[in-house]
Amino acid sequence: MRRAFFDLSGDVMNWDSRVAWITASCQRGRRMIMFALYEFWAARRSEGAFQMAVIRTVLGDIAPGEIGVTLTHEHIRYAYQGCEFDHRNVWDLDEVAEEVGQAARIMVAEYGIGTIVDLTPPDIGRHPELLAAVSRRSGAHIIAATGFYAEGMGIGFYWRRKSVDYIAEMMVRDLTEGMVYDNRLTPYRAGIIKVATGGMGPGPTPLGPNGRRIGPCEDRVIRAAARAQRNTGCGLGTHTQPVDYKVTNPGIEMLDILEEEGADPSRVMMGHVFIFPEFAQLEALCERGAMLQVDHVGIPWMHDSVEELDEQLAVLICRLAERDYLGNIVFSYDRFFSHGRGPITAEEPDQENTRVPLGWLFDSFVPRLKKKGFGAAELEQVLVDNPRRVLSF
Ligand SMILES: [Zn+2]
Repeated sequence: MRRAFFDLSGDVMNWDSRVAWITASCQRGRRMIMFALYEFWAARRSEGAFQMAVIRTVLGDIAPGEIGVTLTHEHIRYAYQGCEFDHRNVWDLDEVAEEVGQAARIMVAEYGIGTIVDLTPPDIGRHPELLAAVSRRSGAHIIAATGFYAEGMGIGFYWRRKSVDYIAEMMVRDLTEGMVYDNRLTPYRAGIIKVATGGMGPGPTPLGPNGRRIGPCEDRVIRAAARAQRNTGCGLGTHTQPVDYKVTNPGIEMLDILEEEGADPSRVMMGHVFIFPEFAQLEALCERGAMLQVDHVGIPWMHDSVEELDEQLAVLICRLAERDYLGNIVFSYDRFFSHGRGPITAEEPDQENTRVPLGWLFDSFVPRLKKKGFGAAELEQVLVDNPRRVLSF
């Protein structure tokens, strides 16, 4: 027997009523399916899915494909806290913007640089307006950093008393709203987080209360950075003390804290790891998924000559490539394009970081790598593809 349709009173429905009932049911069903789909989409969207990844520069977001050859750790202006009230360090923003803009323009025009990461946290002179001015004048994309330097040289007293969550909030707001300079919110947003550990040498950093060669304020900053990284998905750049590699693996100590707080190690570029490493320490960092930053190319930091350090860097890079770790390497100078300071004295000598020629990487270091079998594809990977992966979020 055919099933009859009944209305609520129990009477058999006529054809018109049946058609109306079926249509209404379908509409209700469609609405429910649409609602379920919307809920799914909204939930995934809030997790960051469906959003196009971008690279956040001071002048706005760019598509990852626009990044070009990238230097991952430079300083447009490097200046220790306190120099801003030194009579011998009065400077003019336009003059410095013009001078540094011209240097960056040469890097763009003559060496094909697309992007410069300014890994200067606010406690060593980050100047959002200067970064924007240099980017406009040179055509280089410039990525600014939020975060802090090591506590021996940075992290002002104001921030030493703040909680992990308070610091994390500052970092997230730098990345999403704009950076604050001189009590003003600027329209320029950060695109990476900087964290740092270690003393000023010449010996290794003493053990901290946490059993690591990491100070208590650095520990809080690293935890805050991890939370901000998890929240935004952005990349991290770090400073580790080269001398500490003689007594521990400071990169692993830092990764331990970052991962305790849920950060993604594949988004961490470990700085200064090639100055005094054992090869096994580099491998250990790669095995944890971290990126290794080749820096101080052309700057003989803690070494007798440029030749000595450049050759050491090149040999280590090639050994890593042989072990299939080419995907873990990025390049930079760690150059100070402008140095906020008083006059050069014995106590405060000039630094090689200000003197390295703009094209040293391409004129001297790349030919050295090529002699060791490093080809165009390998260079493209470390100078373009790897930074693009770390800096996109
Ligand atoms: Zn640096």
